[in-house]
Amino acid sequence: MKIRLAADLQEDSIVDGEGIRTVIWTQGCSHNCPFCHNPNTHDFNGGELVDLDDVIERLENLRGQAGVTFSGGDPMFQPKACAILAKKIHELNMNVWAYTGFTFEELLEKGNKDILDFLNNIDVLIDGRFEIDKKSMDLEFRGSSNQRIIDVKKSLENNEVVLYNLNKKVEKKKETLLYI
Ligand code: SF4
Repeated sequence: MKIRLAADLQEDSIVDGEGIRTVIWTQGCSHNCPFCHNPNTHDFNGGELVDLDDVIERLENLRGQAGVTFSGGDPMFQPKACAILAKKIHELNMNVWAYTGFTFEELLEKGNKDILDFLNNIDVLIDGRFEIDKKSMDLEFRGSSNQRIIDVKKSLENNEVVLYNLNKKVEKKKETLLYI
């Protein structure tokens, strides 16, 4: 099976999710958000078709990465290939984040089993289109305030969006300090 990628895997990113991460840049997106930062990733025939086995080999050789982030483009246009990679990433003990221009609700409404399979293998999803009038430089890991950082497992369990707590580790540290 092949996946269409916009660029080579990018290691050691610190802006695409928590910790040091590798980014998989998928090719193809039809959301056409005005002022999109990656217009070169829109063309569904652009980028390069890459064998999944080659991507998996790259993932197996990663060192010092907390996780892998699917970005693009919109990875939800290639859910089958992305689901296979996301499962592999978890087997390699790394977490999975993904960006999508769809909202979480829109994804569920599609009733697409590959998208559901992919969602079931994502830890954190940043959803929604980029909206220039809601852009802020103060937002961590997202471009505009309409986009949400979602705890996917809890959201699927509760059948409604549960936001991911970015400060989880900081709060845990605080709790520990209280008991010292
Ligand atoms: S969803 Fe992302 S890649 Fe697609 S047009 Fe919007 S900002 Fe650009």
